[in-house]
Amino acid sequence: MARNYDVVIIGAGPGGYTAAFKATQFGLSVALIEAKKIGGTCVNRGCIPTKALLHASDMFHMMQNCDAFGVSTDFIAFDFGKMQKYKKQAVAKYREGIEAGFERLDVDIIHGTARLRRDRTVEVELAEGGREFLQGNAVILATGAVPIMNNIPGADLPGVWNSDRLLAAESWNFDRLTIMGGGVIAVEFATMFNNLCSQVTIVEKQKHLMAPMDDVMSVELEKELRRKGIKVYCDATVTEILEEEGSLSCIITPNDGSGPVKTRAGQILMAIGRRPDVSRLLGKDISLDMKDGKIAVDSDFETSEPGVYAIGDVAARTQLAHVAAAQGTYVVEKIAGRPHSIKLEVVPNGMFVSLPIVPNCIYTDPEIATVGITEEIAKKYGLKVRCGHFSMRDNGKSIITGEEHGFIRLLFEAYSNTIVGAQMMCPRATDMIGEIATAIANGLTAQEMSFAMRAQPTYNEGIGAAIEDAMRQNPV
Ligand code: FAD
Repeated sequence: MARNYDVVIIGAGPGGYTAAFKATQFGLSVALIEAKKIGGTCVNRGCIPTKALLHASDMFHMMQNCDAFGVSTDFIAFDFGKMQKYKKQAVAKYREGIEAGFERLDVDIIHGTARLRRDRTVEVELAEGGREFLQGNAVILATGAVPIMNNIPGADLPGVWNSDRLLAAESWNFDRLTIMGGGVIAVEFATMFNNLCSQVTIVEKQKHLMAPMDDVMSVELEKELRRKGIKVYCDATVTEILEEEGSLSCIITPNDGSGPVKTRAGQILMAIGRRPDVSRLLGKDISLDMKDGKIAVDSDFETSEPGVYAIGDVAARTQLAHVAAAQGTYVVEKIAGRPHSIKLEVVPNGMFVSLPIVPNCIYTDPEIATVGITEEIAKKYGLKVRCGHFSMRDNGKSIITGEEHGFIRLLFEAYSNTIVGAQMMCPRATDMIGEIATAIANGLTAQEMSFAMRAQPTYNEGIGAAIEDAMRQNPV
């Protein structure tokens, strides 16, 4: 006999736990099933632990360069074990905050592995042993994704890591690190280990890092990483990993057909993407339509099975925690028959182009953040734009902190001067992009964005300067 709920949610990452909170606030009965730890990838193996270690490694890096600010210290060192302990504490504190929220609300948390069966029934293999059946008026699949491991020769050698395992490494053995892949996870790990004085090499098979980010940003990023001493091979693939005299080497084969190069690899991180794992999610009596390896959904995130929804990394084109959370909110509002409190994209007044309002953040040094569209995409749509550019060389706060590399670029639709996009590479870009996402979501114009003052000295003043620059430019 199945227990009945308004909503049964599988997976307690940002997608699942946000959906559970929202549904409970709307008075719906909710069961949330999680096989591992509450918080999912983001809290336990993703956003929070990486940013904690990035923060710690950045402190070490800053201390090595503090003499220029009149601060000196005789001895600078890091203790990787202690850094990991601090990271674990940050993760646990964040997770406990979520768990405390569930205690206050009336959500049934079920620890176990769930399988979707027909008629919106969910079979749970309980962590404590035994089996239970639940039935939801709606079921939300929020089971996330797992790291892709490539099966080139040598991929199974000890010393080849994925991000889950590397984040949990207890001791330091990373004087040299080769990273396969040049996406966001790769460049953030490269930054972290470079801060800790590792010799880092990145090998990316696309022509530039961070594809599909626009070329202007990726070329700037590559320059910055190289300036810091990180070796970057683009348009090349690691085709073999070898163990020689107790250490790893790898063969890097350029895509242009020129000869392969053998390099000392040290430890190797495979960061070549993440794929949804639905192998054990579906019972024999049900199948769901798939698209490009992900669960296919319609514009309301409903799968091919009526009443079954899929959100976050298991279905989304963009694998980000805030996208999973926003989709969770959207779906629960749909199930509860409530108006939507969140927009996933907007078509500003008088325009025919749908603008994505998902901020994309990369926690490199300097940080990178983008939202909306680029000049290249505007051109593709035939949209005339004004582009404003501000170099952080001329920003007071950047001069004070010695972080003068970087820029802010803003795009406005040329006739209405409505903001349509931003690309930033500068300190605190990941915090400042929120202002632009809000402006795009509300269709603000350059004039409206300029009404309020920006405090001096702040990095934020760069946004004001980029708006002024855009208004001086001719449309392109
Ligand atoms: P997940 O967070 O993956 O949660 C899915 C949950 O479902 C897991 O807890 C899993 O155990 C559970 N589950 C799976 N199958 C079952 C089952 N059958 N039964 C029960 N439970 C099940 N995103 C950002 O926005 N910002 C960042 O800075 C960022 N940094 C990242 C760094 C790294 C190293 C990684 C790997 C990812 C990062 N991400 C970041 C991506 C982000 O973590 C994901 O986009 C986000 O966690 C997706 O949320 P989700 O709810 O879809 O799935």
